Amino acid sequence: MVDALIDQASVAVERIRLVDDMSRAAASAESEKLRSALLTSLSHDLKTPLAAILGAITSVRALGARMDDAARSDLLLTIEEETRRLARFVSNLLDMTKLEAGGLDITPDEVDLAEVLPGLIARAALLLPGLTVKTRPWPPSATVRGNPILVDQVLFNILENADKYAGPNAVASVGLEVADGRVRLVVEDQGPGIPADQLDRVFAKFHRVATGDGRAAGTGLGLAIAKGIVEAMGGTIRAESPIAGTRGTRILITWPLAAPNTRAGGPPEGIP
Ligand code: ADP
Repeated sequence: MVDALIDQASVAVERIRLVDDMSRAAASAESEKLRSALLTSLSHDLKTPLAAILGAITSVRALGARMDDAARSDLLLTIEEETRRLARFVSNLLDMTKLEAGGLDITPDEVDLAEVLPGLIARAALLLPGLTVKTRPWPPSATVRGNPILVDQVLFNILENADKYAGPNAVASVGLEVADGRVRLVVEDQGPGIPADQLDRVFAKFHRVATGDGRAAGTGLGLAIAKGIVEAMGGTIRAESPIAGTRGTRILITWPLAAPNTRAGGPPEGIP
């Protein structure tokens, strides 16, 4: 409970800071609208899990020994899930603030995606047991400038969405291609997809597709964070529908290929 209250306080502080930054950046009528929409969404994101946690704790305390084991275990599960939701929310907000403050460590290193992706996928699969991740054959090497921890976060945010939105027994496929001096990472699922008019907007902070059926269970920050990281690594990210107007989401990320002969920062041996 104490932890949840601490979380609540730090989320509130971060959110206020974000809203403040945004309103300073552009003090127009448009940004005022955005600011008030953000505040509404922030308080909703905080109030909903907190109300569920408080309700569950109150019931356990009120009924005490008169509560049967199954009911108690249901309430404890609610407390656990909602606390996790708050924790995820706080950590997304912190990532976002770091990203905006330019505080992300994009070491000018190189990472071979062909080599690291299997490990990153295995880690995501462990954390998302409801999701099956398939891979398509990929080239032996696909080196980009960046940092494997950040690639891990981008991939995890996208796979987490496939898990959240593509329903039970969701399947996501991950592909890697190298062509024309570029590396392309493609993650696809067969879930309900994103409406065509929102394919760009889902990368904006706090944007969630309204469905009215509880689908919007996230923070609206996962793809904004992914975009910030991808761009900091010199790449681009976009979403498309594999089959327009029907189902499925495809997220495409492109980074410049860091070819091995550019690593040394000079021409290959023998070339003046
Ligand atoms: P959230 O934390 O809400 O998932 P994101 O920034 O990751 O935030 O995604 C923004 C919105 O885009 C989501 O709320 C959801 O409506 C939509 N979305 C993202 N990925 C998918 C997907 N794989 N399938 C369907 N909708 C998606």
